[in-house]
Amino acid sequence: MTPDRNPHAGLPITDDDATIAAALEDVSIPTLMLSMVHMTGDPSIIRGELKPQGLFLNEVQGYMGEEDKAEVRRLALEVIRAYRDGGSVPADPPSPELIREMMSFLVCEDVPEEYVPMLLEEMELDGVDAREVDLSVGAEERAAFPVVVIGCGQSGLLAGIRLQEAGIPYTIIEKNAGVGGTWYENTYPGCRVDVGNHFYCYSFEPSDHWSQYFAQQPELARYFDDVMHRHGVDQHVRWETEVTSAVWDDGAGTWTVRVRAADGTEDALTARAVISAVGQLNRPSLPDIPGRDDFAGPAFHSAQWDHSVDLTGKRVALIGAGASGFQIAPAIAEEVEHLTVFQRTAQWMFPNPNYHEVVGPGVQWALRHLPFYGRWYRFLLFWPACDGGLAAARIDPAYDSSDGRAVSETNEFTRQMFTDWIVSQIGEDHPDLLAKVIPDYPATGKRTLQDNGSWLQTLTRADVDLVRTGIDHIEADAVVTEDGIRHEVDVIVFATGFQANRFLFPIEVVGRAGEVLAERWGDRPSAYLGITVPGFPNLFCMYGPGTNLAHGGSLIFHSECQMRYITGCLDLLLSSGATAMEPRQEVHDDYYRRVQEELKGLVWSHPSIQHSWFKNPDGDIHVLSPWRLVDYWTWTQRPDPEDFVVR
Ligand SMILES: Cc1cc2nc3c(=O)[nH]c(=O)nc-3n(C[C@H](O)[C@H](O)[C@H](O)COP(=O)(O)OP(=O)(O)OC[C@H]3O[C@@H](n4cnc5c(N)ncnc54)[C@H](O)[C@@H]3O)c2cc1C
Repeated sequence: MTPDRNPHAGLPITDDDATIAAALEDVSIPTLMLSMVHMTGDPSIIRGELKPQGLFLNEVQGYMGEEDKAEVRRLALEVIRAYRDGGSVPADPPSPELIREMMSFLVCEDVPEEYVPMLLEEMELDGVDAREVDLSVGAEERAAFPVVVIGCGQSGLLAGIRLQEAGIPYTIIEKNAGVGGTWYENTYPGCRVDVGNHFYCYSFEPSDHWSQYFAQQPELARYFDDVMHRHGVDQHVRWETEVTSAVWDDGAGTWTVRVRAADGTEDALTARAVISAVGQLNRPSLPDIPGRDDFAGPAFHSAQWDHSVDLTGKRVALIGAGASGFQIAPAIAEEVEHLTVFQRTAQWMFPNPNYHEVVGPGVQWALRHLPFYGRWYRFLLFWPACDGGLAAARIDPAYDSSDGRAVSETNEFTRQMFTDWIVSQIGEDHPDLLAKVIPDYPATGKRTLQDNGSWLQTLTRADVDLVRTGIDHIEADAVVTEDGIRHEVDVIVFATGFQANRFLFPIEVVGRAGEVLAERWGDRPSAYLGITVPGFPNLFCMYGPGTNLAHGGSLIFHSECQMRYITGCLDLLLSSGATAMEPRQEVHDDYYRRVQEELKGLVWSHPSIQHSWFKNPDGDIHVLSPWRLVDYWTWTQRPDPEDFVVR
């Protein structure tokens, strides 16, 4: 490969015709058609009769008929043969107008102009990582600006990569012994991502290696470990060390970050800025059930899976069946003697036949060899998870939602579609079960799960019970429900989620006026753009308040937006020679007001949803973003100095 070859142009093709033809059997045909445009420079292939018919999440063939797909494969083989024989040199890059036409072709709708810059940046068709850091100040100023990053999940790792590029000295403090955060800690059986991995990965890293469309935890953990080593970030991490406090010294313009290592040794670091990358879903939440500690057998949280406990032949209680419990039940049902799933509310789920599918060799080949195939494939996953989900989450004030069934016509349609899927999986033979698994709140009102049928079919097993009655208490050998029934079990798994609303918990963060952040926030954490907080200078949050995505997208995309903004803030500080920056109180307050106003108009706030990790004890939401991705991306391009007090 020539050194200046666009990294997304793929490896030169040297395979014989039969190998190529075999690979084409597996690939996404609409995506292949766009790759053909890159190979030939001729857009006629996307202007004819052969085209995708519609777009739905994870439907990568665009509902094209078999004959049409076969015809494209035939044409593609000719094009690829010529491309191979000509030395695998892509044609000149498509014009901006053509790129937009290609986008609209792939997703079967007009992609509005306002999205194009964001999508181009995310897709990197020009081979340039536009989010790479380019600070305006010299090396000396950068070197004098040490930064502490708290946490080394995907956010903290990204922070390390970008700080390294920026030439800013940094230390990452991580309480675990390895990288990955969520994907390091959650080792429960069946743990996997539910956003397609060719999108749930960094935009600037290759994504041709995933073995499954929705990778399992070990593969995700390996991915983050590989990325960390490739970028040399591991040299900067203090493992098995926890940040206990961070105190701002306004005179010195520094944070003092206190840490405690696993052996109990304490230390303090001085930093000019602190980046919190502690995640929203990192501190397990255990339910306050009377008698919880009286249970005599093994009992553990899903994020702290006890692998020394052999579940074979055991009677297991799975308390909680949200995102984690939903994955655990199908994975352990076969080996346990009996599984009792205690579920407070039923979950809506999205039919996804690809959920457990492996990425076949043809697709792997296409990702590696067909020019820009991987980039367009990323876009194909990104677009339906983009802002359409937000429009569908909007409460229509003219729609009668008083019965809690739906909040708009679209939402009612989604309910029907999801219900049909549930009924199709459970069948007519289990009327009692069916009554328990169809949620009584609007579709997408809580985190919507992905299902290929495995969860629902698990529930139909004779050795699995779904209990929807509330738990009264726990005894030494049983979980007792409010109807007095004793469910005798040997092991309890708490899949009861996380203390999501307690940002940065339990770190004591003390700001400019001696104020403690946790006290300021209480149950209503907020930050300007989810990143900065008045009174807490040079503190930057990733995945902070109001940044979780319930309507689609990948949190890695959001982290990339946040980190770009944070490096912009650091540049502002360094180039102005200032020591401190914090958002103006009125800017923060106005943002907070707008976030809350916006959230009230979205399905997650609907009063019919009583139990949801999105809601705080008052029923308000402080964890979610109500914004279109394109807006958040635009606002986080760079900080507006007018928004800040810089001194
Ligand atoms: C089971 C599960 C499945 C999920 N699936 C998806 C999905 O499919 N798609 C999706 O977009 N998101 C998913 N999420 C959300 C997921 O948390 C984010 O996608 C992402 O991994 C968050 O990365 P992060 O680095 O911000 O936080 P985390 O991954 O939570 O990492 C935070 C890190 O900070 C460390 N830390 C915390 N406090 C301290 C301290 N005081 N001192 C030192 N270190 C500290 C932690 O040990 C951890 O390593 C899932 C979450 C869970 C729990």
